[in-house]
Amino acid sequence: MAKQTLLQQSQSIYLMGAEGDLYEEICAILNQIEGTLFGNGPRLVMEQAQNAEIFMVSAETESEALNFLEALRSSLVLGLRPLILVTPNDLQGISFPYYDLALTLPLSDYELKRALKGLRPIQERLQQYPPLYDSYAEMACREINLLRFILSRQLSEVIPERDETSPVGYSLPWADHLLGVERGLGLIEMDRLATAGLLLTQEEDVVNLCPQCNDYRINFRQVCPHCGSPQIKRVKTIQHFTCAHTAPETSFIHNYEYICPKCGKKLKHIGVDYAKPGEVVVCARCGQVAPEAEVSCLSLKCGYIFPPHQAKQVVINRYRLSRLAEQAAIQGLHSGATLADVLHSFLNIYAYPFFEKYLQLEVKRSLRYRSPFSLIRLAIRNLSNIEETYGLEGKMTLIKELQEILGTYLRTTDLVSFSPHNEILILLVEADETRAETIVQRLLKRSQKVLDAPFDFKYHIVCVPHQAQDFSHLQKLLTQGE
Ligand SMILES: [Zn+2]
Ligand SMILES: [Zn+2]
Ligand SMILES: [Zn+2]
Repeated sequence: MAKQTLLQQSQSIYLMGAEGDLYEEICAILNQIEGTLFGNGPRLVMEQAQNAEIFMVSAETESEALNFLEALRSSLVLGLRPLILVTPNDLQGISFPYYDLALTLPLSDYELKRALKGLRPIQERLQQYPPLYDSYAEMACREINLLRFILSRQLSEVIPERDETSPVGYSLPWADHLLGVERGLGLIEMDRLATAGLLLTQEEDVVNLCPQCNDYRINFRQVCPHCGSPQIKRVKTIQHFTCAHTAPETSFIHNYEYICPKCGKKLKHIGVDYAKPGEVVVCARCGQVAPEAEVSCLSLKCGYIFPPHQAKQVVINRYRLSRLAEQAAIQGLHSGATLADVLHSFLNIYAYPFFEKYLQLEVKRSLRYRSPFSLIRLAIRNLSNIEETYGLEGKMTLIKELQEILGTYLRTTDLVSFSPHNEILILLVEADETRAETIVQRLLKRSQKVLDAPFDFKYHIVCVPHQAQDFSHLQKLLTQGE
């Protein structure tokens, strides 16, 4: 019993780090505890790393730590694994949840054991998530990984950090890695997930970007409205009462006296001869005078000059998982999931290549023994509308209900598969067209009665041998009418 408990507590560890004193110290402590070392060194050896439940990163410096963290978090396979960072001192530039736990020297076996124990809840949550469908594109997997990361770390809110290396001035580095995008661009991906209803947002800041290169590094400066030069000077103006001439003070100054440049008279007393009514800007390049300078933007990255109203404004959001996202994370659902993917998770359905082979055999058998069978091709034409109206979760519920209805009317000898066109294929053994028609009608009637939202079904029945005499004929009839 005691041994079993020990075994249960043992966690497999992969240690990443370059050789050195710190690395040696961690190795020594790892040897004393129950954890099993699955691999170690400065490089990721995938075969070993895949089997490790926990990653430990040993880093002497911040940049070394960042390199290791990036390698792990950006891995499609390893990105979600719990991670302990061990450094000689506290690192200011790296924070949770980039790592899950941080340890500093001196390190004790007690401390390490406690850290490993602390990661158990994350491990347990991760174990509940089913593997992702093979049909998902890499980005779909990465998006679900991001949701799973937030959920497994129980991050109630995710707030982007100021980041001068990000083109939008903010970033979530760990999210960038999980999503496999460049620095800062994870926020744009996350806004897409927000549009899809997976993330809830709250405005945090607005950043001005260059409309040409989408970079935040913009110099806002005052320029001459005539020639755009930043070489401008703000000067006081003088108004000569007698001739009403108003011009910059500089044009009145002659040998420490004010002489009106228009009428040539000397100005003696302020308030009597002249007034200083305001200020103007004088351009040192074109010499023009203007009442006000203009604000102009210079992209420090690409050099583009534009007025402020042309700056591209992006909202920086803080994020929370929506209820739909929690569902998607736990079930591994993505809107990229096909009907086949979804039904596969509920039903024991045959892959199409196998189904096709079986169908060929069934055609031969049917012809030899003159016993009929029917093939139903069932399409749900409004599946994408259903998702728009009821959301991914609603669609899943409906498909699950449909699966139950299918189960009611089909026999265990009947086969279900999906055509490459994503239609449901049902092979009814020893059923002629009349029987197939009866089954479809019952199925549709039942669906209409039970389902909250109406599926728009379209079906087609082919019976062998009455309508199709061989396999190619059957295939032809099946693809007709599309
Ligand atoms: Zn630019
Ligand atoms: Zn000018
Ligand atoms: Zn004058």
